[in-house]
Amino acid sequence: MVLNRLCNLKENHTPLTLKELPDPEPEENEILVKVSACGVCHTELDEIEGRTPPPRLPVILGHQAVGIVDACGRRASRYKIGDRVGIAWIYSACGECKFCQVGDENLCPDFLATGRDADGGYAHYMTVPEAYAYCIPDGFSDSEAAPLLCAGAIGYRSLRLTGLQDGQNLGLTGFGASGHLVLMMVKHRYPNARVFVFARSVEQREFAEALGAVWVGDTAVKSPEKLDCIIDTTPAWKPVVTALRNLEPGGRLVVNAIRKEEADKDHLLQLDYPSHLWLEKEIKSVANVTRKDVTEFLSLAAEMGIRPEFQEYPLEEANKALVELKRGKIQGAKVLKIQ
Ligand SMILES: [Zn+2]
Ligand SMILES: [Zn+2]
Repeated sequence: MVLNRLCNLKENHTPLTLKELPDPEPEENEILVKVSACGVCHTELDEIEGRTPPPRLPVILGHQAVGIVDACGRRASRYKIGDRVGIAWIYSACGECKFCQVGDENLCPDFLATGRDADGGYAHYMTVPEAYAYCIPDGFSDSEAAPLLCAGAIGYRSLRLTGLQDGQNLGLTGFGASGHLVLMMVKHRYPNARVFVFARSVEQREFAEALGAVWVGDTAVKSPEKLDCIIDTTPAWKPVVTALRNLEPGGRLVVNAIRKEEADKDHLLQLDYPSHLWLEKEIKSVANVTRKDVTEFLSLAAEMGIRPEFQEYPLEEANKALVELKRGKIQGAKVLKIQ
C-alpha cells in the first residue's frame, strides 16, 4: 500500500494505493523480511497529512512490522532465514554522534525512521539493517507482537520519562494503542500506583476501567485528585492545558506525540502561569525510540505475559484502519494482517 501524495484525511479517505512492486533486495548489511503483520500508528496520520512528511514519495508506511527473515545480505549474519523478527520506528542512526555515543540514538541528527525515511511494513516484503531488527519472544502471535514495537516501546519510554514511583498517581490523557499497554505495564510494575484515564469516547473509558483504571473521565475535565505525572498521547492542545492543571506541584507532563495538530492551538492562550506551570511543573516530550527501549520492552512484555488488544484489517484495507484512527474509533491497537 503506497503513499503517493500528502493529503488531508478528512477530505481524502483513500490516501494509500494498492500497487504491485518488485521485491526489495537487501544490501550487504540488511535482511529481507517477509512481513506477516504491521501495526497502524498515529504517526502514519502525521506523515500522510504532512506534519512529519516523508522526504521522498512514493513511500510505503508502517513501522511496527513482524515477519520472517527471507534473505540475508552478503555481510548480514545475525539472523538465519526463517527467524521471526520485528522492526520498529528506528530504521538507523549514525552510531557516532554525541547522542549515539551515550545511547541516545533516538536524538541522533541522522535518525532515519522506518516507513517514512525508508519503506516500511505496509507491504509483503521490506528490508532493514540487521542491527535494527529484533527477535520476537515466543508466545506472541504476529498480530499481538506488532503493536508492542511502537505503541508498547514508546509507551515504555514515556513511562520511564515520567519518573513514576510506586504508590503515586499517574494520568493517561488519550487512551489508544499506547495508553492501554502503559496501563497494563503500570499494573505489573507499580502495583500500588493509581491510574487516571482521560479519553474522549465512552467505549475507551469503559475499556480503561476494565483494565484497572481507578478513575475515568473526558480529556477536558478536572481529575478528582492531583496527579504526580501524566502521559499525553492526544494529537491536540486542549488536553495539554487540562493536564497541566491536574498536575501536583513538581509534577511532570510527558507528551508522547511526534507532532500536534494545529486545530485547537488557541487553547494555549488559556495557559495561566500560577495554576498551570508555577510550583515547578515540567513538560517533556518523548522522541522516537532506541533499540534498547524496544529490546527491553519486548522482554518485559514476555515476562508480564502482556496481551495487547487489537483489531485486524487485511493489508488492502489499510485506508479504512487509518480513517478510523483519524476519527478516534479505537479500541486497543490496529494491525494489518498481511499474509
Ligand atoms: Zn508509531
Ligand atoms: Zn548519531
